[in-house]
Amino acid sequence: MRTLNWMVSATLLLSLSAVAQQPADSQTTSQPATTMSAPAATPDQTTAQPATTSQVPSPAPAANAQPAPPQAAPQPTTMDQVVDRFVMREKGLIKMLQTRTPVIETYLQNLTLDPALGPIPQNDKYFLGRMDLSTTIDRKDYIKDDQSMEKHLLGGFSKLFKVQYQPLGFSWMIFADRNDFDRQHYDFRYVRREFLGDVRTLVFDVTPKPKSGQGRFLGRVWVEDQDYNIVRLNGTYAPRPRNAYFFHMDSWRLNLIPGYWVPAFIYSEEGDFSAGAKNQMAFKAQTRIWGYDLKKDGASDELTNIRVDSVQDDSPTAQDASPLAAEREWQQQAEDNVVERLQRAGLLAPEGDLDKILQTVVNNIEVTNNIDLPRPVRTRVLLTSPLETFSVGNTIVISRGLIDTLPDESSLAMALTHELAHIVLGHNLGSKYAFNDRMLFSDESTYENLGFKHIPEEEQAADKKAVDLLKNSPYAQKLDNVGLFLKALQLRAPQLNALLTTHLGNPLAENGTVNRLSALATQGPALDNSKLDQIAALPLGGRVKINPWDDKAEMVKTAPVAITSARDKMPFEVTPFFPRLIRYGTGVNAPAPTTAANSGSDN
Ligand SMILES: [Zn+2]
Repeated sequence: MRTLNWMVSATLLLSLSAVAQQPADSQTTSQPATTMSAPAATPDQTTAQPATTSQVPSPAPAANAQPAPPQAAPQPTTMDQVVDRFVMREKGLIKMLQTRTPVIETYLQNLTLDPALGPIPQNDKYFLGRMDLSTTIDRKDYIKDDQSMEKHLLGGFSKLFKVQYQPLGFSWMIFADRNDFDRQHYDFRYVRREFLGDVRTLVFDVTPKPKSGQGRFLGRVWVEDQDYNIVRLNGTYAPRPRNAYFFHMDSWRLNLIPGYWVPAFIYSEEGDFSAGAKNQMAFKAQTRIWGYDLKKDGASDELTNIRVDSVQDDSPTAQDASPLAAEREWQQQAEDNVVERLQRAGLLAPEGDLDKILQTVVNNIEVTNNIDLPRPVRTRVLLTSPLETFSVGNTIVISRGLIDTLPDESSLAMALTHELAHIVLGHNLGSKYAFNDRMLFSDESTYENLGFKHIPEEEQAADKKAVDLLKNSPYAQKLDNVGLFLKALQLRAPQLNALLTTHLGNPLAENGTVNRLSALATQGPALDNSKLDQIAALPLGGRVKINPWDDKAEMVKTAPVAITSARDKMPFEVTPFFPRLIRYGTGVNAPAPTTAANSGSDN
């Protein structure tokens, strides 16, 4: 069984070779399109009633309740009617999102100019919060008390930069103008038609009317040509008030449910490194939004949980557990509690296809080392960017950001094997979470209530064991790549404090020094930027794709892009987003069959 999986892995994991560098050039290919032809009955707006989610208690499983799609409306015939329509659809989106509390993550890198590599990270910053879109844009942050860091990073500029790095600033960018996006406050000018991915769009320039107030949207919107939803916003806010600064943004939406395009990615960038430029601020930031389908305040829907099924307990033990069996049951209970709680807090992807890939790698290590554990090892993906792994019971958790930056399968094996070593050595953490009162906390306080950091002695023992396991595995001949990754990480570690600050497990690096698996760091060739085929680490966002509605994670399929200079490598860096837009129900956004995700953990 296991051997079979091992055989399969070779083909399964081809997608993990180091080619996926950057969201491929699915760039805006502007093409003339012939839409807008449908003659409309009347331009009258009997349109799109935004439907809110049914908060009505219902015996049906409410977990995946989706907002009803807006009603069909007559096709507009003039550009003015198109404007009216997308203004109305925007209001519909704002209304639909009022019942939603998505997770919003911003990872920001302040830049400095390197003569050889161009702008590179100087230091970084990380925000994670939960938005409440009910009346205004409000948010609660998972990471608190960041003040000292702010001062440390921004030095003398803290006053000027204060407003700009308010996490709320990044949250605004999901809408053009939450309150007054209309003809009274804005001029709309049709520009052209353009394809974004598979979706035909109409492009409009948007300018605030004179004296319409501060902080109005100034830029461009792309509007899809079927229901006239805005799918992309690009620009800034103007005029800027005194002592505040609005940065530029490129904000993308995805059609994840029928009739609505929900905000998913925002890229921000400032800085001018041309000769003589006086711009003091330079940064790149990626903002990701997910968890639209999470329950507000982490409340579980009692009606589905209290569902009484005529299910028998068919567990094999018909008698009381032996002491050792009881101990294992106890750990399993803690493990299930934690996994379920992290998923409910919007931090863990539901079980999915990506886990199968991770599990195959773990299997490869287990089979070649004759590891036979009483319970199978499971893997799950943490949805956040910081580079992090931890394990609870027999579940290994690895962050999206870490999977993104690992250059190949052997490096992925390195990251997973450290945690497997903890499991093999019996370094079980977290059994206290078998008590359910310890699961009762608000989602935003997850990091204060859960933690899986090992003592240094266990870390060293796990590293030592991991090296033994790797050297006796299919990855033994490829540990040079692991060494290269660790070298690349060490080179950037002093500048990437936020990316390397873990929130649940042990960090890969502390105080700018990589400490994970240091025995392998000397392995392999020296880092050489001039070698274009030497890819030691990837940029963020190159591998894992999250569905912002249901949090499912999958591998990105990007066409390889040739690297033409050392500047193209961008290890651990943030880049703009260019998602390939598709309509709901076509391609990968198609509703996936319901899986038995988490079925082991409830009941
Ligand atoms: Zn560890």
